[in-house]
Amino acid sequence: MPPEIARRRTFAIISHPDAGKTTLTEKLLYFGGAIQMAGAVKARGERRRTRSDWMQIEQQRGISVTSSVMTFERNGIVYNLLDTPGHSDFSEDTYRTLSAVDAAVMVMDAAKGIESQTRKLFEVCRLRDIPIITFINKIDREAEDPLTLLDQIAADLALDLVPMAWPVGMGTDFRGVLDLMSNRILLPENGERGASFGRVEPLSDLADIRKIEGIDERIADRALEGVELAQGALPTFDIEAFREGHLSPVFFGSALKNFGVEQLLDALAQWAPGPLPRKATQRTVEPGEDQVTGFVFKVQANMDPNHRDRVAFVRLCSGRFRRGMKLLHVRDNKPMTVSSPTFFFGQGRETADEAYAGDIIGVPNHGTLRVGDTLTEKEGLKFTGIPNFAPELLRRVVIQDAMKAKQLNRALDDLAEEGIVQVFTPIAGGRQILGVVGQLQFEVLQSRVANEYGVPVTLEQSPFELARWFSADDPAKLQKFVDAHRGEIATDRDGAMVFLAESAWMLKYKGEKFPDIKFAALRERG
Ligand code: GDP
Repeated sequence: MPPEIARRRTFAIISHPDAGKTTLTEKLLYFGGAIQMAGAVKARGERRRTRSDWMQIEQQRGISVTSSVMTFERNGIVYNLLDTPGHSDFSEDTYRTLSAVDAAVMVMDAAKGIESQTRKLFEVCRLRDIPIITFINKIDREAEDPLTLLDQIAADLALDLVPMAWPVGMGTDFRGVLDLMSNRILLPENGERGASFGRVEPLSDLADIRKIEGIDERIADRALEGVELAQGALPTFDIEAFREGHLSPVFFGSALKNFGVEQLLDALAQWAPGPLPRKATQRTVEPGEDQVTGFVFKVQANMDPNHRDRVAFVRLCSGRFRRGMKLLHVRDNKPMTVSSPTFFFGQGRETADEAYAGDIIGVPNHGTLRVGDTLTEKEGLKFTGIPNFAPELLRRVVIQDAMKAKQLNRALDDLAEEGIVQVFTPIAGGRQILGVVGQLQFEVLQSRVANEYGVPVTLEQSPFELARWFSADDPAKLQKFVDAHRGEIATDRDGAMVFLAESAWMLKYKGEKFPDIKFAALRERG
């Protein structure tokens, strides 16, 4: 693999809300030299504000609802961190983002261990064999005993864990973190409790922590005993097992107090794979191939409200991309010149003159690029693996001002492309039906349609509860089913038909009555 490509690390952070993903992201960017930080709290407030400029709902609810990309360079490694929304209502966007990474950092709260959202996201990573580094955060607060935590996580996820760090005391007893990879200890500034990490002390023997001022015997003994027990009971690190997604190295740290953040960056540099080969329907594409290829995993409308632009986020899968290149938009079978591709740095954007496999570039366009689309230099490839999940809530959209129907359609089209909502058009006519995974998405939709497109809408109950894509091997049987259910069938934006069921019971009943029809809750895009 060309060195320019091999030095890229494209990853995401997965976690349950509140585990510390935002804080850790800020610290990774800080230690990666991408942002300056006057103080965590201030930076945090600023970040929220700037982001909210174009996303009012975030400001109102104080949550992060969109994913973006942050690129930074440290010690010769280029990190592409793909941000994923933490709220469970936005899982579809998260799943798509995970299709574009080569590794993931799983963050959890040391007091809580595995939580529902962590487990869900972990399962997606496992499906794709994404290697995972575990970061157990908030060890400066009262927490579970580290051994108990490791046991629980390993059992819960059926995953081998190897501790690479160990907390010396937790909560009020917190004194520092042992770095087990290079026998040293990270200590708080001035030995002060609750202070940020400030000092590294090399250790010729781990037991030397007993000699460090401020670490009393009880705390030292517990930590040393924990390390011994863990090392006796847990497997040793095996890079192959990690790369295959069966084993995860574990770091203990505090994102807030800067403990463990640099170790995490080092681990990504050292162990996480560079850009991985990607599967296309026709063949597997290697990152080192000459030809530029990539796929769209996300589309974001109105990133800049003044420009009403629509940016497609493209994960490059192979080759060296240069600005102004003419690429083949495979689905349309049309060439497109990529004249103003962008890189993202936290809040900022910059024109990308060149980019390599593993990088994410933003391609401004007017709706030609959709999620799941493949771009190549010449070959008619189609990358696979971008899912659509059946919605869990359905509503009918009601427009208050009939003159604005056109704007509404445009808004729904944009937001559907972003993955905020799915839009279904009944084949027998009538109002469009909107589907989402979680209630919050409806609120985001209403707010954005009103603010960004000037179309206030209300949402009313739909007679249907579930939507399922359906198909049949025999076209005559499919047609017969369609004819018998015209009032319950709609098409999605790709023209694929869905059956709308008024209840789970009804769906089951139809499944039994029409055994030749296959109903699916998952569909591959493109
Ligand atoms: P997210 O929802 O996963 O993005 O979590 P945030 O980064 O917003 O963190 C949630 C809360 O936990 C915030 O109040 C943070 O200040 C706090 N927090 C994050 N990391 C740490 C840590 O290492 N130690 C302590 N004590 N608090 C933390």
